Amino acid sequence: MHSFVYDQLPGRVVFGAGRLAELRPELERLGATRALVLCTPEQRDTADRVAGLLGPASAGVHDGAVMHTPMETVHTARALAADLRADAYVAVGGGTTIGLGKGIALETGRPVIAVPTTYSGSEMTPIIGITEGGVKRTLRDMKVLPRTVIYDPDLTASLPPAIAGPSGMNAIAHSVEGLYAENANPVSSLMAEEGIRALAGALPRVVADAGDAQARAEAFYGSWLCGAVLGCVGMALHHKLCHTLGGSFNLPHAETHTVILPHAAAYNAAAAPAAMARIARALGRERAEDAAPSLFDLARAVGAPTSLAAIGMPADGLARAAELAVQNPYFNPAPVTQAGIARLLDDAYHGRRPGR
Ligand code: NAD
Repeated sequence: MHSFVYDQLPGRVVFGAGRLAELRPELERLGATRALVLCTPEQRDTADRVAGLLGPASAGVHDGAVMHTPMETVHTARALAADLRADAYVAVGGGTTIGLGKGIALETGRPVIAVPTTYSGSEMTPIIGITEGGVKRTLRDMKVLPRTVIYDPDLTASLPPAIAGPSGMNAIAHSVEGLYAENANPVSSLMAEEGIRALAGALPRVVADAGDAQARAEAFYGSWLCGAVLGCVGMALHHKLCHTLGGSFNLPHAETHTVILPHAAAYNAAAAPAAMARIARALGRERAEDAAPSLFDLARAVGAPTSLAAIGMPADGLARAAELAVQNPYFNPAPVTQAGIARLLDDAYHGRRPGR
């Protein structure tokens, strides 16, 4: 076994159907007395219900979460939290809402309780992406790591399949890259393989029948593990490329991850055979070379988009994207070349299944 460093992140996970009811004691456990509940406008009803559970420990509800956490939304929410004398934030929603909670915590240092309602995994990481002047900056800071996460699968019953599928694929991407990360270690790799296995098994059932409570619980378990992997090891080509595509071409986050993932895996397959063997095994396949095509098949099975063309990428932007992707060197198992990325993007644009 090679030598390694494993950064164990602190955090408390409360998991199970109906356990949102424990929110108030969880808040008190953190020594907080008044929490501002955060959400998107679409999830206002859920957030109002959550505020009701808090009773007098609710400082109010703010439904101003916006995708990619624009800095102005953080300033507005922080000012409101100060006016309402909130000493904690309860983020009820997906990565967008959790991002707003993280943004306020970054400035105030007060605790965030995350109540995730998608599978993207943000609740388990000390990572925040904030957009300012049209540029999305990503940073790591322990202040933003939610102190407590309540995974209540009852909350995902309302998640439309078109959001559930891509958000689960987004989580799987954290584990795929975690398995070939520069600082991968035996513990992060255990979580990664198990996270892919749980999500890949559950997601097709979740999108086929949102009433399948067991499948929703298994998907949450997988997204927890995949989020934890993102929280403790570095990412590579796939995440950098998705960041470039999202930032420069305004493509939707989870869908971009879904489309790029099989192609990024194929790009790295020869350079990371042990990781591919574990990904394939987690997807129920025996051969390492089945990893990338099986990721493509999974995206198709959950009804998620499989081509960049389908999610609004302009064909005349592909060359520019390849140029941008090689501008800031970073770790990746296979050398990152402009010609190689151009081929990857062409395959992803046309939605070709890897391994033809
Ligand atoms: P999202 O939070 O943007 O949610 C998508 C839409 O689904 C929203 O309109 C939301 O209101 C709605 N929704 C969420 N849950 C619902 C439910 N249960 N029922 C009905 N509607 C529901 O989606 P996401 O994919 O979770 O988050 C994407 C964002 O998260 C991106 O900005 C991405 O950068 C960020 N992210 C951050 C990290 C991190 O570690 N920092 C990790 C993953 C994703």
